[in-house]
Amino acid sequence: MDTPTLTRPNPDTILICPACGGENPANAVFCANHQCHKALGEFKYVLEELDSSRSAIEKLADKVSGFIAKPKFIIIHVLWFAVWILLNQGVFDKFEGFDTYPYSLLSIILAIEAVLVTGFLLISQNHQYAYSEKRAELDYEVNVRAYRKLLELENRLDRLLATDQDSTGTEDHA
Ligand SMILES: [Zn+2]
Repeated sequence: MDTPTLTRPNPDTILICPACGGENPANAVFCANHQCHKALGEFKYVLEELDSSRSAIEKLADKVSGFIAKPKFIIIHVLWFAVWILLNQGVFDKFEGFDTYPYSLLSIILAIEAVLVTGFLLISQNHQYAYSEKRAELDYEVNVRAYRKLLELENRLDRLLATDQDSTGTEDHA
């Protein structure tokens, strides 16, 4: 019977994490580096792969959308509006307003900001979507591989049991 060579990890060797380059025991499942904690194995690293192919604008978009999602973004805007309105309402005696009511300059700035923010959010969302798609694809691939391996093992076990029965059968007759 042909026995395909199985690539079992050698316990004497160490596993090098492809993500952070750290050394791990050969039987480790996850990288020991807590900051990395990647699953060790012969598969692709979706996040790293996508990150390396990310363009400068996509990196910026991810940073911007990350910032927008924080409460800081709203607080900064509220403070900005408050200061802007107070300045232009002449609350501070010595300061003459530069954008009197109805604050057209502020409206223009906000309109430009809205366009940019929408663009950045869409770019970032696209990137996130691509990431989820790749991840799902990888999950599916791993599932299919595991399924095939399981079938292979089942077949081998069946054959092993069959040969075992055959040999015990012949022993009985002998
Ligand atoms: Zn690692």
